[in-house]
Amino acid sequence: MAKPVLLTVDDDAEVLRAVERDLRRHYADRYRVLRAESGATALEALRGLKKRNDAVSLFLVDQRMPHMTGVEFIGQAMDLYPNAKRVLLTAYADTDAAIRAINDAKIHHYLLKPWDPPEEHLYPALDDLLEDWRASFRPPFDGPRVLGHRWSPDSYAVRDFLARNQVPYRWLDVETAERDAEVRRLAEIVRAETTQLPVVLFTDGSSLANPSATQLAEKLGLRVRAEMAFHDLVIVGGGPAGLAAAVYGASEGLRTVMIEREAPGGQAGMSSRIENYLGFPSGLSGADLARRAVAQARRFGVEILTPQQAVAVRVEGPSRIVKLADGSELGSKALLIATGVSYRKLDVPGADGLQGRGVYYGSAMTEAMACRDEDVYIVGGANSAGQAAMYFSKYARRVVMLVRGGSLAASMSQYLIEQIKRTPNIHVETGTRVAEVHGEGRLEAISIHCAESGQTDKVPAASLFVFIGAEPLTDWLGGVVERDQRGFILTGSDLMHDGKRPQGWTLDRDPYLPETNVPGIFAVGDVRHGSVKRVASGVGEGSIAVQFIHQYLSAV
Ligand SMILES: Cc1cc2nc3c(=O)[nH]c(=O)nc-3n(C[C@H](O)[C@H](O)[C@H](O)COP(=O)(O)OP(=O)(O)OC[C@H]3O[C@@H](n4cnc5c(N)ncnc54)[C@H](O)[C@@H]3O)c2cc1C
Repeated sequence: MAKPVLLTVDDDAEVLRAVERDLRRHYADRYRVLRAESGATALEALRGLKKRNDAVSLFLVDQRMPHMTGVEFIGQAMDLYPNAKRVLLTAYADTDAAIRAINDAKIHHYLLKPWDPPEEHLYPALDDLLEDWRASFRPPFDGPRVLGHRWSPDSYAVRDFLARNQVPYRWLDVETAERDAEVRRLAEIVRAETTQLPVVLFTDGSSLANPSATQLAEKLGLRVRAEMAFHDLVIVGGGPAGLAAAVYGASEGLRTVMIEREAPGGQAGMSSRIENYLGFPSGLSGADLARRAVAQARRFGVEILTPQQAVAVRVEGPSRIVKLADGSELGSKALLIATGVSYRKLDVPGADGLQGRGVYYGSAMTEAMACRDEDVYIVGGANSAGQAAMYFSKYARRVVMLVRGGSLAASMSQYLIEQIKRTPNIHVETGTRVAEVHGEGRLEAISIHCAESGQTDKVPAASLFVFIGAEPLTDWLGGVVERDQRGFILTGSDLMHDGKRPQGWTLDRDPYLPETNVPGIFAVGDVRHGSVKRVASGVGEGSIAVQFIHQYLSAV
């Protein structure tokens, strides 16, 4: 964090330099001393500091300045930094005005010019004030801040991106400006520069209005382009399966690049608590698992490109070539597809238009704080819905689970069912489904249909989290890689029909266990036909696949 600022303002250049010199001599190790030659310039500097979220501890301001007096400046500066100590620098003739200012303008102290020697006339008074300031000072948040509307899909996308890429950020909802002076001040500064929200403010003083994921990634130092155009192994998808393959591949000497569309961690990264992963008896969050795996992969030299999406694949002789969403291409000797599955959308009237405005898919972690003391509705009865319900129960007033089936037993692990039973603010409504969602600009109500009574009731709702199963998004592989009717990728023995190898297969061996119908293209994890759909199985498949990739490479 940057040191807190001491700001001195005086229109007399000589006096200003002298004050600055004396302040630096005594305080430079703990404070940043800044100077300005007029009230207007100083206010401009303060707005810049506010944008960066820097702390200001003290104003030391000359009273007699043209255009804006010291008292006038302090009146405006207080609005930006109400807790900074306020000191007027006055000539003897202005003593009366300075004393009046203590009463009328909330000045903490006044100092007479000249202040020599500073050890007697300057430092003791300022030391005292600064000690007082430090006693109640809480260091400001030292990271990006996002200013936006809670119900805006763009704001949601930015927050989700930061959270999933594990960038700590502070969320400032403009709708709280009336009751939160800090938000109001920042909103005023931002509005003078742009009308677009959300705005992301960085600690270097720069900001981005309504940034795309790529702009954010570049600003935050995430890599979206590869250093080389050709690798030994390209992995598409950064969930547990892709990350495991990346760690094993790179640790065994393969030049490996991993492409991830959203954020490393995949579905597991959205899990608030994974309790059945071996070696973590009290569970661990998906974000924690992802953070550890990414660090491990980077340590072995894996290049991670995110956000970056694979949109097509083709084969050119021994090369497997992936086309990326930005139009560039990456070639490799072997390609591993670990693209998992994506949440199925709620197919009811009104749901599409309210996505990100109260209707969310798998975003429990990002939104939980915003739902404090509200009622939250969760659609789904599988483990992902159960975990989300448990997570929300810590924040929300009431969590209502809308489950289509007659009980949770058929779709949820027993340990989660027990936890839900023991949590008084979770209500499970079985035999129900969402029939419609309503709202202008944000979710306001949902219609719930009860199978037993045949009745549909409309209830007020601000947040609806949907966990209704998932499907593989593999259309981009069409025509090259064989898939089943639902889009899952066929591998190994699933490709064999009546003992015959897949069409177009040229090698004198059967496809390896995780290999697709194209030699050298492999598929692991949830995207694979017949996969188990667990973190541990994804990790296992990703690791095993590397052994088969070595065997493939040794023969080409
Ligand atoms: C909320 C929740 C809780 C869960 N809890 C548990 C649990 O407690 N225990 C357990 O064992 N399992 C749990 N699971 C299941 C587990 O997370 C998955 O089985 C596992 O993540 C699958 O890993 P994967 O790597 O195959 O795919 P995914 O995790 O789905 O990762 C695939 C990745 O590929 C990326 N991708 C997709 N298409 C492209 C493309 N074209 N280009 C670039 N990137 C792409 C995606 O963005 C994603 O990050 C949970 C799942 C959810 C959603």
